[in-house]
Amino acid sequence: MFVSLLTYTPDAERLVATAARLCYSAVDFHTLSRQTGTTDNRQMIDKVLALGHHGVLEHAVFSFAAEGVSRALTHQLVRHRLASFAQQSQRYVDFDNGFAYEMPPAIAGNHDMAARFDEAMRHLAELYVDLRAAGIAAEDARFVLPNAAHSRLLITMNARELRHFFRLRCCRRAQWEIRALAKLMLQEVLQVAPALFQKAGPGCLAGACPEGKMSCGAAAEVRREFTDLFADPAPFPDPA
Ligand SMILES: Cc1cc2nc3c(=O)[nH]c(=O)nc-3n(C[C@H](O)[C@H](O)[C@H](O)COP(=O)(O)OP(=O)(O)OC[C@H]3O[C@@H](n4cnc5c(N)ncnc54)[C@H](O)[C@@H]3O)c2cc1C
Repeated sequence: MFVSLLTYTPDAERLVATAARLCYSAVDFHTLSRQTGTTDNRQMIDKVLALGHHGVLEHAVFSFAAEGVSRALTHQLVRHRLASFAQQSQRYVDFDNGFAYEMPPAIAGNHDMAARFDEAMRHLAELYVDLRAAGIAAEDARFVLPNAAHSRLLITMNARELRHFFRLRCCRRAQWEIRALAKLMLQEVLQVAPALFQKAGPGCLAGACPEGKMSCGAAAEVRREFTDLFADPAPFPDPA
């Protein structure tokens, strides 16, 4: 999996703090923007986060590239309706030379099952090529491509939606692959907007676990995991 923050609103924290200040101030924009120092911005962002005045976070937007993720992941990801996506098409892109795929660690850890998994992928790749050779259009041949097939996409979310996404998808109840993606995205944004993404992450960072009976039961461990991440948000090196 490769995740990279491609671009984001310049001076995102200053913009959000200015938006918040505007709501409570009688002065004009010029005066407002001169009032904004880094410390004041941080204080203002702390205040809106504490108050739940999260609308102002929507002014800051972040765009990521994600590659080497399964279609199983992207199907979950695109359920987030307030995000924008562009995803590599299986209609316009041919996979005549085979397709890359994700093998879940639980399968990779089982020698026999991993071999059968690889074999199934090989068969599907061969069938795809045969279908194309028989004149079947890519949009129909793709029906044999599995959930494991890799995809790449561009993801854009504003800071409010990102915080919501991190709350759901950094949680241990989320599926392992989308959780890994969410953590990498959080690491990326923490480096450029630490105030906006302070304490972003699973629901249990803000208090009791919101999952009730479905809780992973490891809230203390999860809090430690994210405390470590906030202390050192440098992303992991690209495994590729
Ligand atoms: C652990 C886990 C398990 C899941 N299991 C399943 C499953 O079994 N089956 C399944 O179908 N899905 C499942 N999902 C997906 C889930 O139901 C949501 O579709 C997905 O997480 C997107 O969340 P969202 O709607 O809050 O976010 P977004 O679409 O990103 O929206 C953000 C927020 O905006 C508001 N909003 C957005 N659109 C509307 C709207 N039309 N009307 C009112 N308010 C809106 C809501 O407050 C929403 O929370 C699962 C998700 C998780 C994290």
